[in-house]
Amino acid sequence: MRKVVFGGNWKMHGTWKQTEEYLQHFVNCPLPVNSEIILFVPFPYLSLMQKTLSGTQIRIGAQNMHSEDKGAFTGEVSADMLVDMGCTHVLIGHSERRSLFFEKGPFLNSKVKKALTKGLTPMYCIGETLAERESDKTVSVLQSQIREGLEGLSQDDIAKMYFAYEPVWAIGTGVNASEEDARSGIAVVREAIASMSSSSVSQSVPIVYGGSVKTGNIASYMAHKEVDGGLVGGASLKAEDFYLLIQAGMQGR
Ligand code: PEP
Repeated sequence: MRKVVFGGNWKMHGTWKQTEEYLQHFVNCPLPVNSEIILFVPFPYLSLMQKTLSGTQIRIGAQNMHSEDKGAFTGEVSADMLVDMGCTHVLIGHSERRSLFFEKGPFLNSKVKKALTKGLTPMYCIGETLAERESDKTVSVLQSQIREGLEGLSQDDIAKMYFAYEPVWAIGTGVNASEEDARSGIAVVREAIASMSSSSVSQSVPIVYGGSVKTGNIASYMAHKEVDGGLVGGASLKAEDFYLLIQAGMQGR
């Protein structure tokens, strides 16, 4: 049985006060025990998360990290710094990092390796753009993103990772992928992971779907056993909404 995972990606949203209020609400919600909930919050709120969430089942995630331990990398944050702040998970390869900050395969691969070395669980994000989809390149794009990201990793390391299949055209657009798009994309990703490790490793790692996931559609995605949860942007920004979404998702199981 694979883990069910719900990640809330706040992107660059929130204030200190909103984060306090969010956490106050969220920590009092009876979350399903058979799932893992990770809040990927902006760096400045990690200390508040660490203070408020210790001893709860909610995990603390960062949205990015650098692959080097230290040095002249103004504006960057290292894996050790994230561990110091109580992070257990980190997003790597989110499409906004790939497209807006030009992060490419080899750099993402070095980040994945560093995260694993430091005991952080990378949630490695992959997905095709609309242009790639329309030119029938979805499968080859997903295969090459997996190949680049997992290059040089041992099977044991790959077994520690989480994955998010997020078609770029569905992120933040309100245009959500069909259930079949999500299911078939995840199947391609799982097969690509198997080719870099083994079938048993690829069957064991959680692969979630992301892209305009909402309370009203999560259950239909999760009704497919290939979909191990959701990576949620906009609909995770309010504690009440995200909690309802998690509950709805678990009903899809
Ligand atoms: C995301 O940020 O990974 C995401 C899927 O965003 P949204 O849910 O807003 O589409």
